[in-house]
Amino acid sequence: MDISGTEIASINEFGEIHTVRHINFECTSCSKCCKLNNIPVTEHDIDQLQKNGLEIDQILEEISPVLIANKNLEHDGLVKAYILRQKPFRRECVFLEEDGLCKVHNFKPLTCQLYPFSVKKNEKKLLVIVHPKNICEFIEIDVDENKSNTTKIVENLMTYLFGEKQTS
Ligand code: SF4
Ligand code: SF4
Repeated sequence: MDISGTEIASINEFGEIHTVRHINFECTSCSKCCKLNNIPVTEHDIDQLQKNGLEIDQILEEISPVLIANKNLEHDGLVKAYILRQKPFRRECVFLEEDGLCKVHNFKPLTCQLYPFSVKKNEKKLLVIVHPKNICEFIEIDVDENKSNTTKIVENLMTYLFGEKQTS
């Protein structure tokens, strides 16, 4: 896949989408996105966590699935997902360690790997959606070209999703 076919779009808290040319983002590992959010996980994510020694009741808050708007990859519409467990009486992911690191970093759910982005794909193009800034404040939208690291961001996302660097 050629990343020149990629479009970037931001989505605001009202669900409105607009196309963006240049963005800048470096994750500061502040771990804010591991708090407050209900993190959706798919059955594939759960398989990965189980293959790495975790039991289902260590992973999930509820065994019952919920239907959420699909933000990643091929299918629009609603998908079945589960909510990642949170610590008792604390609104943060059960895998967030006291030093701010992720206990399951090497096999964390796809949503966590991509955040603060999600990626939609069809035959012709890839759409990278930037999440609203109310959780991750380090994403900058519509920056000058000389401040942009958009290509690097897209390459990293492609590497997460498809396992190899794509050409531009
Ligand atoms: S994605 Fe954003 S909110 Fe999450 S750890 Fe990185 S900088 Fe913090
Ligand atoms: S699995 Fe890791 S990256 Fe994902 S929310 Fe939990 S601590 Fe954060």
